[in-house]
Parts: sequence; C-alpha cells; structure tokens
Amino acid sequence: MNREGGCLCGEISYSFNSNAVISASHCHCTDCRKSTGSGKATIIMIQDSSLVINGEIKYFSVTGTDGAVVSRGFCEKCGSPLISKIEGMEGIKLIKAGGLNDSSWVKIDSNFWGDSAENWSPADLTVHTFKKNPIQ
Ligand SMILES: [Zn+2]
Ligand SMILES: [Zn+2]
Repeated sequence: MNREGGCLCGEISYSFNSNAVISASHCHCTDCRKSTGSGKATIIMIQDSSLVINGEIKYFSVTGTDGAVVSRGFCEKCGSPLISKIEGMEGIKLIKAGGLNDSSWVKIDSNFWGDSAENWSPADLTVHTFKKNPIQ
C-alpha cells in the first residue's frame, strides 16, 4: 500500500510503497536537533524506487561528523523538513516521520547519536541505541 505525506502548507506532497520501508529511527545528533528545532529527528529509511514527489523540495547540504554530505530537504514556502539524502547512499531516502499524513504504523527500531541526546529529550533506551552514527 502507499504511504503519503507532505509539508504544512501543502505545496509539497509525496508517496512511497510501504514495502520500501527499511527502518525507523530517532536521530539525536546536533544537526538534526538544529534542523528540526526539536530534540531529535524521526527518520524512516526507505528504498526510493517507488518514491513520487510532487512540488519542488529545496535541499540544504552539510558535511556530517563522519564526513558524508547530508542534504536535508524542506519546503521553501513553509519550512517543513521532509526528505533527506546522504552522499554515497544512492537509492536511499530518509523520510521525516512527522511529515506523514498517517504515521500510526511507524515503529522505532533504533536510536542514532544517543551520546548527544539532550536531557530534555532523552534517548529511548528500550530500543537499540547507537552512541554515534551506525552508518560509519
Ligand atoms: Zn510547504
Ligand atoms: Zn541526525
């Protein structure tokens, strides 16, 4: 079945097949904290072959701690963070769970960057917690 999401203003929407979902994680890294304005980013990793995007996503690229360039996509009009991609991980996209129209099916299976979680947004240690980035 299709999973659908989009930004707050409605300018950008997307869909992907539920079979494309690889994992769901909270990321507590400083860059995710800054870019979301919250304690963590909640990220659904998918294979992007079924991903369809309507509207033009803007990307802000930054080199992460591990040296890979992370491009975080957002709506230029309303600022909603939507979809990210990582250099060297072709065919993979990272969907911000909060942008999904129905996110009730999301089940978190790990935390990234547990070492940098803030006191006010601690890592949920009931799931596997990587101290830093699991992709290194
Ligand atoms: Zn928007
Ligand atoms: Zn992060």
